[in-house]
Amino acid sequence: MTAQSAPAVQPVQPVPSNRIDLRSDTVTVPTPEMRLAMAEAVVGDDVYGEDPTVNTLQQTVAELLGKEAALFMPSGSMTNQVAIAMHTSRGQEVICAEGSHIYEWELGMMAAFSGVVPRFVPAPLGIPDPQQVRRAVRRSIHQSPTGLISLENTHNKMGGTVIPLDVMHAIRAVADEEGLPLHLDGARMANAAAALGVSLKEVAAPFHSVSLCLSKGLGAPVGSVLAGSKADLVRAHRYRKMLGGGMRQAGVLAAAGLLALRDGPARLKADHVRARRLAETLVEAGYDVNLDAVQTNIVYATIPGAQQKVSAWAEQGLLASALDVDSVRFVLHYQIDDEMLERALRVLRA
Ligand SMILES: *Cc1c(COP(=O)(O)O)cnc(C)c1O
Repeated sequence: MTAQSAPAVQPVQPVPSNRIDLRSDTVTVPTPEMRLAMAEAVVGDDVYGEDPTVNTLQQTVAELLGKEAALFMPSGSMTNQVAIAMHTSRGQEVICAEGSHIYEWELGMMAAFSGVVPRFVPAPLGIPDPQQVRRAVRRSIHQSPTGLISLENTHNKMGGTVIPLDVMHAIRAVADEEGLPLHLDGARMANAAAALGVSLKEVAAPFHSVSLCLSKGLGAPVGSVLAGSKADLVRAHRYRKMLGGGMRQAGVLAAAGLLALRDGPARLKADHVRARRLAETLVEAGYDVNLDAVQTNIVYATIPGAQQKVSAWAEQGLLASALDVDSVRFVLHYQIDDEMLERALRVLRA
C-alpha cells in the first residue's frame, strides 16, 4: 500500500456522509477496535497508581521515548503546564519560540499557575537559532532569571514545521552550558519523527522532559503523556493532582491510547503526502500558501476574508479553521482518505 492510497481508518460512529473535517487532527473519533479495547480495558484507581492499563501506557511511552518514567494526563496543555511547573520557580522566564503553543494557546497559564513569563526567540519556520537561544538566557540580578528552555516540534502555528535533530542537539548543548532544563512540547512529535525518518526516541533524546499527545495525529480520543526523569515526575504527579488531572479509572482512555501508539506513527506519512497535495492544489487555485512550511500534516493559507470563505466551504461539507482575519488552517488526519481528499480539492478549486 503506498502512502497515496492508504485508506482512512473507519470510525464506528457514523460521520455525516458529505462532511470532510479538516479543522484539526483532534476531530477523529474512535475506531471499532478502539471502542472494543476501551470496553474491555482492565481498570483501577489511577490516583492510587492502580490502573493497570494506565500503567502499561505510561511504561510503553517511557520506553518509546527513552525516558525513565511517564505520566498520563487528559490534555497536552496539562502536560506542558505541569512540565513548566516542575522545572521552574516563580518569577523566572521560559525561553520559547515565537508563536509557541505553551504561551499562545494555553491561556496565560504559565503565569497563572507557575508565576513565570515567556521570553520569545525568533523562529523562522518554527526553528529557533541556538545562538539566539543562548543570548536570551538571563543571569543578571536586575532581570528575571531563565528557568527553562522549551521547544515545539512540530511547530503548530508556523505550519506543522519540523526542527531538525542537529538544531535540537545544539540547543541542548546551550541548556547544558547554562545548567537549564530543556522541555519539548511534542504534541505532534510523532509527525516530526515521521518527517525526519527517525524514531520517537531520537526526537525525544535531547530533552529532559517531553509532552506527547495521543489525541492528535496518532488518533486516540483523549490523552497526552509527559515523559522524563523519575525525580521530575514525582513533582509532576503533584502538579497534575493540583490541576485536577487525577482521572481515576482512566484505563478506558489509556486502552485507546495504546492502540494509537501502536498504529498511529506508521500512518502519519500518508497524512503528510495528502497535506502536500492539498497545499499544491490551493496554490493552483490561486491561494497564497508558503509551501516551504508544509512539511507535515498542516497547511496554512493566507486568504483575505477567511471567515467568509470557511463558511462558504462549510456549506459544501468542507470544514477548515479560520484562525485570523486572513488565515485558514487545514489539518490532515487518519480519517481522511484519498477519496475524501479529492472531494475536498473539488470544493477548493470551485
Ligand atoms: C494541541 C497542542 C497542544 C495541546 O493541546 P490540548 O488541546 O490541550 O491537548 C500542545 N502543544 C501543541 C503544539 C499542540 O498543537
